[in-house]
Amino acid sequence: MKPIIAAAISLSLGMAPAAGQNISPNGSRPSTKGPAEYFTGSVTVDPLFGANAHMPSTGGHVTFEPGARSAWHTHPAGQILIVTFGTGWVQEEGYSKREIKPGDVVWCPPGVKHWHGATATNSMGHIAITNMVDGKNVEWMEKVSDEQYAK
Ligand code: MN
Repeated sequence: MKPIIAAAISLSLGMAPAAGQNISPNGSRPSTKGPAEYFTGSVTVDPLFGANAHMPSTGGHVTFEPGARSAWHTHPAGQILIVTFGTGWVQEEGYSKREIKPGDVVWCPPGVKHWHGATATNSMGHIAITNMVDGKNVEWMEKVSDEQYAK
């Protein structure tokens, strides 16, 4: 069918824009605060997507103010972090902390104890894509102490 005829038919039928594709508009997913139980300092979580049968992972954008960080934790099926702005730190237990910058992509394997957050002087944002297993995507542990954070 010629494109102009197809367009005319779709207009005349009042065709819907899509059957399966979904656009989740910016502004439709309220921001939440990172709970004090699991985070130190000021952390904002902007949800992006939830898990579904085809993609068993959750996505969120996390903003850490200077000095803010997650508690120590593991992920049962791993996690990807994509740094979107600022300067941050990640640390795997038993190893030194490392600086992360916008465009860096961090893979954290299942069961590896770690934390992530801003540096002491700069904020940091990252997208976190976290795989789910049996309805869980994280195992929270103790807070990162000021001494551990400064090290
Ligand atoms: Mn993590």
